[in-house]
Amino acid sequence: MSTSKHLNTMTYDVVIVGGGAAGLATIASLLKRQPDLSIALVEPSKHHYYQPGWTLVGGGVFEQRSTCKEMADLIPKSVSWFENAAVSFSPHQNSVFLTDDIKLNYRSLVVATGLKLDWSAIAGLEGNLGQNGITSNYQPGMAPYTWELVKKLERGSAIFTQPPMPIKCAGAPQKAMYLACDHWLRDKRLQNINVEFCSAGAALFGVADYLPALMSYVEKYNITLNLQTNLIGIDVDAKKATFKKTNADSSTEIIEKSFDMLHVTPAQVAPDVIRQSPLADAAGWVDIYPDTMQHKVYANIFSLGDCANSPNSKTAAAVRKQAPVVAENLISMLNNKKLRSVYDGYGSCPLTVERGKIVLAEFIYGGKIDPSFPKWLIDGTKPSSLSWFLKEKMLPPLYWYAMLKGHEWMANPIHRDDLPTDRHAKPSCNFDAN
Ligand code: FAD
Repeated sequence: MSTSKHLNTMTYDVVIVGGGAAGLATIASLLKRQPDLSIALVEPSKHHYYQPGWTLVGGGVFEQRSTCKEMADLIPKSVSWFENAAVSFSPHQNSVFLTDDIKLNYRSLVVATGLKLDWSAIAGLEGNLGQNGITSNYQPGMAPYTWELVKKLERGSAIFTQPPMPIKCAGAPQKAMYLACDHWLRDKRLQNINVEFCSAGAALFGVADYLPALMSYVEKYNITLNLQTNLIGIDVDAKKATFKKTNADSSTEIIEKSFDMLHVTPAQVAPDVIRQSPLADAAGWVDIYPDTMQHKVYANIFSLGDCANSPNSKTAAAVRKQAPVVAENLISMLNNKKLRSVYDGYGSCPLTVERGKIVLAEFIYGGKIDPSFPKWLIDGTKPSSLSWFLKEKMLPPLYWYAMLKGHEWMANPIHRDDLPTDRHAKPSCNFDAN
């Protein structure tokens, strides 16, 4: 940054970068505990999206408009909203630089920028998404096109792809496929449609307990499963997709498949602004302790949601449990108290295996399953209509009116008094620096 520029500088107790699920939930949890905190939110978007709803938009269950709200309506009045993007971080100065030559100083920083969809990793895709039968529920505003394609396809070939991990909501690529297959089956068209799932991964889903139920749907819908098969290119005119397949002996081969409908899940990477900052780990994600969510080097910085490197599944369900942990630890840190709140890695993935039924995957660090409900009510490893009811009717209001408002339903942080004390005592921050 040029030193000759005049910077508009302001100072807050807490600066939050990103007003998605993680940023807004953290603001709500902070204000619930300490309403007099001065908080700035850095968020360039005028709209906030409930992304977990996009699977149901692509399956013809939700309207797109129900998944989007005005950002201004969701930000508490006491919070100063900067409609800017963060462009660089200066953690030694306790500053973040924004577009329009704005500099914000902070006592504590929360980084919640989400991740970047890396469409450029697929040759030939640019400019062709949203037409010619190519869609993605991952792209804001595109799930209605998925549903349009599902409704239109009478016969031919439908391919659903999944890139290498990490991706947000690891089950979403197959959720889109099951809902499409369910529609084709009910409409007696499925026998005319060749459905393939092409995943870069070595297994259909990362937590083995859910595989039997998922495999029963793969068989029911007669889906061809191509594992270790990564989409690398598209020839739009020829309607052909190119994949790099890794064989059992580690050799690779390039294969082509024709499609009439292609649902693409892009590779997902850390945003450039983080990757290029001192906050990043070697892979570009914000480098935090996976239990306290505190940065490993800068004690007054916390991160959560999709941009953090904690090895949980990147979901809004994870954010619901992370936000209260960040809020409690951040306030402890500001008051020179020991950090006590711990996140156990909870994440959840409601796999929409058919319209009206869900396999509700819930797990913590290490892939250990961690159901929220007793087995007699919901057995997450089996398709359940109660889980569908939860996803369709309960989770959207839980998101808008509980999680984003500081009502931490079933999200009480775990407390531990034996966390290493040196973690939050590193002399990296100088709160008075400008
Ligand atoms: P986001 O919600 O993406 O928000 C990031 C915010 O940061 C955005 O508002 C963005 O504008 C802002 N930002 C970016 N760069 C900057 C910058 N430089 N400066 C300032 N602000 C910036 N989760 C579930 O729990 N269950 C599900 O069933 C589920 N299904 C999903 C299905 C699909 C198709 C998708 C796409 C996601 C799904 N998820 C699901 C995942 C869930 O939506 C995400 O994990 C969650 O939104 C992460 O929240 P976040 O705040 O980290 O990121």
